[in-house]
Amino acid sequence: MSRQADIAAQSGATIIDGRALARDMREVLRQRAAGLQERFGIKPGLAVILVGKDPASGVYVANKIRACDQVGIHSRTIRLETTVSTHELLELIRALNVDTSIHGILVQLPLPGHIDMPAVLDAIDVNKDVDGFHLYNIGGLVTGGTVFSPCTPFGVLKLLEYAKIPIEGQNVVVVGASNIVGKPTALMLMARDATVSICHAKTRDLAQFTILADILVVAAGVPHLIVPQMVKRGAVVIDVGINRMPDGSIMGDVEFDGVAQKASFITPVPGGVGPMTVTMLLSNTVDGAEAFCNAADSTSISL
Ligand code: NAD
Repeated sequence: MSRQADIAAQSGATIIDGRALARDMREVLRQRAAGLQERFGIKPGLAVILVGKDPASGVYVANKIRACDQVGIHSRTIRLETTVSTHELLELIRALNVDTSIHGILVQLPLPGHIDMPAVLDAIDVNKDVDGFHLYNIGGLVTGGTVFSPCTPFGVLKLLEYAKIPIEGQNVVVVGASNIVGKPTALMLMARDATVSICHAKTRDLAQFTILADILVVAAGVPHLIVPQMVKRGAVVIDVGINRMPDGSIMGDVEFDGVAQKASFITPVPGGVGPMTVTMLLSNTVDGAEAFCNAADSTSISL
């Protein structure tokens, strides 16, 4: 990060520091969680369902649990064998949906191939769908009625907000069209009145699109896909990519050193979007717990 900061400083690009924003936001979330405890005697609760023994998923879940501890969210990790059936998962989710100590339910993806993933995600109570992957919440990105936004795209928006980047009327190019990052990011930026193009692996001549971007969001999972010639001078570049290299290092989708010479703002990898994804999960969970407490309070249901 300090080497990246040096390069960016020499070239005039400002680094958007996801770690700093995440730290500030988590402190506010810690205070909000403490407030719920004080006012209602309720601790926000997150249930995490982890199927199988995929090492990367194990690491992601451990990070989420640690972050929950830091802000005062109680977490419950439910580890299931790879052989679990869709039916068993649905039963578990139904039980968590009515568990009043749980305000957020997260199913760590990917799930084994035999599981009906859409059925599992759509079984989660929309008001506990803190990952934002329920069909209702995805559809809400189109119509504007979403309860929870998906965490990584939400984190991208927060980073742009933090850096005071105007979005309205800007040409935005999103590279990557996955359901969890590219498409929802594009929809959320469209909802802020940006002019959005979405590129993907079948896009012909990617550079002819990226060079037009005032804001370029890259989520392809291809190390150094974006090189300086593909970026307009003064563009804002958000690198969502996380690529683990053979030597164990982490690399983004953007060739940072060169692109930082042209960009006005840029996110580093690591230390950009990554810390924000978990932060937005915490934020959604605290939002869910507050909504639960307020609803119970207004109907005088004892908590
Ligand atoms: P994915 O594999 O589901 O989707 C990748 C998308 O990129 C697809 O739409 C594909 O068509 C497109 N793509 C692939 N190669 C391309 C190319 N050469 N040119 C243009 N488009 C191309 O991946 P995903 O889950 O959306 O994740 C994308 C990246 O973001 C990965 O590196 C992943 O690790 C990272 N990620 C980071 C966070 C975070 O918190 N920072 C969260 C989720 C994903």
